[in-house]
Order: sequence, then C-alpha cells, then structure tokens
Amino acid sequence: MCIFCQIVKGEIPNNTVHENEDFLAFHDIHPTAPIHVLIIPKVHVENFQSVDAQTMAKMTPFIQDVAEKLGIDQTGYRLITNNGSDGGQEVPHLHFHILGGGKLVWNHQHEDPHKSI
Ligand code: AMP
Repeated sequence: MCIFCQIVKGEIPNNTVHENEDFLAFHDIHPTAPIHVLIIPKVHVENFQSVDAQTMAKMTPFIQDVAEKLGIDQTGYRLITNNGSDGGQEVPHLHFHILGGGKLVWNHQHEDPHKSI
C-alpha cells in the first residue's frame, strides 16, 4: 500500500488541514514555502494522467476550499502536480501541492532548459 493510502487509513499520522469523504489535505512534511499543503483523493489514483474527469470536477472546489481555509485564496498561491518520472513525482498517489504564504520564486525545472529532449 502506498504511503498516502496509509495516511488515509490513519496508519501514518498527518497534520490535517481539511477533509471530506473524498479528499484529504494535510501539511507537507518537508515544506518548501511558508504554506505547503498536499491535497489527495482518498481512493488510490496514481497520478494526474490517470485521474478521471469526475474526480477532478469534485476536487476543484475542494482545493478552492483549502485555499480559503489557509487564508491564501486572495493573496495567491501556486498549485502543482508532479506527474511521473520526468515530472519528479516521488509518491505514486495523485497529489496537488498548494504553496503560498509569501511571494514564490519560479524555478527552472530542467538542468539545461536549452537542451532539446
Ligand atoms: P512529489 O515529489 O510530487 O511526489 O511530492 C511528494 C511530497 O510528499 C513531498 O513534498 C514530500 O515532502 C511529501 N511527503 C512524503 N511523505 C510525507 C508524509 N508522511 N507526510 C507529509 N508529506 C509527505
């Protein structure tokens, strides 16, 4: 069972921000911004590429609620999902990173952005 499924089951502790029957939002264990929260579906979905439209339709208002709850809905935030190996996905369970709480820098994500792939 993947680590986020274990979190959903309560087998690994988490710092919950918001929850409903379908989704869970909790603080990232290694924050890279003043606010860094992960948002996941409770059912196991590997990544964005394999999620169905119905789940995303329900996830969108949940993510917006999380932003409100964190108090960053007006000040702004960044929403990221890393997809697969080149995308840097480490945990194979769909999750969105919501980052905020201050001005964020924009990092180049490729070691050589001019090199063709
Ligand atoms: P990604 O590289 O997009 O797969 O991101 C995985 C994220 O999960 C990383 O930011 C980790 O810090 C975070 N993470 C891993 N284990 C835990 C955990 N037990 N509780 C909270 N965050 C976690």
